Amino acid sequence: MERRPWTAETLTARDVVPYADVTLSIHCIGCKLIRELNVWKIGARLADDPLQQLRFRCQRCGVYADELEVRRRTSSVGEHLLMIPLKPRFWDDGHCEDHAAALRRAEARRRALTAKTR
Ligand SMILES: [Zn+2]
Repeated sequence: MERRPWTAETLTARDVVPYADVTLSIHCIGCKLIRELNVWKIGARLADDPLQQLRFRCQRCGVYADELEVRRRTSSVGEHLLMIPLKPRFWDDGHCEDHAAALRRAEARRRALTAKTR
């Protein structure tokens, strides 16, 4: 099956779902972790909205993601396909405050961890 080219501007959950080896992940700047997203969960509600226009928030620390990476799972390493800079159409109410508070919490947690391991 020929698929239309995947671009950061147009890629949707519906495009990705047929490919079981393709993964979506966000790099959380709050907890410095890479989190894999469940494309089926996104597709259930927002299958045809470009991923670029959606909001992704880290479930662990509450920081909003600013980039989404599309990878293909090959062997052990995985192949980078596309990086999508996120430009949400809407923000949650109080997004700026929430985001800033989440970043502060993440920073405080990191400092506490570093202090402990010293
Ligand atoms: Zn996080």
